[in-house]
Amino acid sequence: MAAALALAVALPLSVTACGGGSGGDDGKIVIGTKFDQPGLGLKNPDGTMSGFDVDVATYVAGQLGFTPDKIEWKESPSAQRETLIQNDQVKFIAATYSITDARKEKVSFAGPYLVTGQSLLVKADNTDITGPDSLQNNKKLCSVSGSTPAQRIKDKYPGVQLQQYDTYSACVEALKNGAIDAVTTDEVILAGYAAQSPGTFKIVGQPFSEENYGIGLKKDDTELQKKINDAITKMEADGDWAKAFEKNLGPAGIATPAPPAIAK
Ligand code: GLU
Repeated sequence: MAAALALAVALPLSVTACGGGSGGDDGKIVIGTKFDQPGLGLKNPDGTMSGFDVDVATYVAGQLGFTPDKIEWKESPSAQRETLIQNDQVKFIAATYSITDARKEKVSFAGPYLVTGQSLLVKADNTDITGPDSLQNNKKLCSVSGSTPAQRIKDKYPGVQLQQYDTYSACVEALKNGAIDAVTTDEVILAGYAAQSPGTFKIVGQPFSEENYGIGLKKDDTELQKKINDAITKMEADGDWAKAFEKNLGPAGIATPAPPAIAK
């Protein structure tokens, strides 16, 4: 009886140890990022990963003791990020992930490591969309489920016809073929898509929010949070942060800013 009970208790633990997959046991670390956002988190046709989020995450993993060959990348669409962290499917997420109070109910954040703001992407020849207010005029706007930009449109511009897709790349495809009139999300993300198809799109208006990108991790894991904050601080101090920014976002026409201060 006692042995059976011990087995019943031990089993779930061993399942977690092999199947949880977010790090440790096989010497690998699982990191969440986007796979379809050029300049930030992109899985290339040859299977390699690139982007600023990828470089920051790779640096952080290095500081935690994991060389790049020990990283397993897990695609983390906007609406799935909290769940991926809560279910231990990833050790941490660097995926254009804004720090918000609502999300802090479910996960914790290190950082911020980048500050940007919500903006609009339209076709290069569009003339009648100039900012969020001009969208109330029967325009179809695309954003992504579970994102702060989609939520802001619902809260502040309820007259806009918002369509929520799973990914921004799907929104950009719909913009290209005329199914929608504009895409909204953070300016750095939109700039990455614009740079990918020169002459096709343009960003209009001024950013209308402040988005602070953090690295999402298990709620209240203050030890990991401190290690990641120390890693980001080191990356900023040794110049690798600026180099990564220039390499990934410079081609999209974004000047390298001073890195943001880590939240206290
Ligand atoms: N930074 C915003 C967010 O976390 C938009 C980008 C995204 O959806 O990844 O919701």
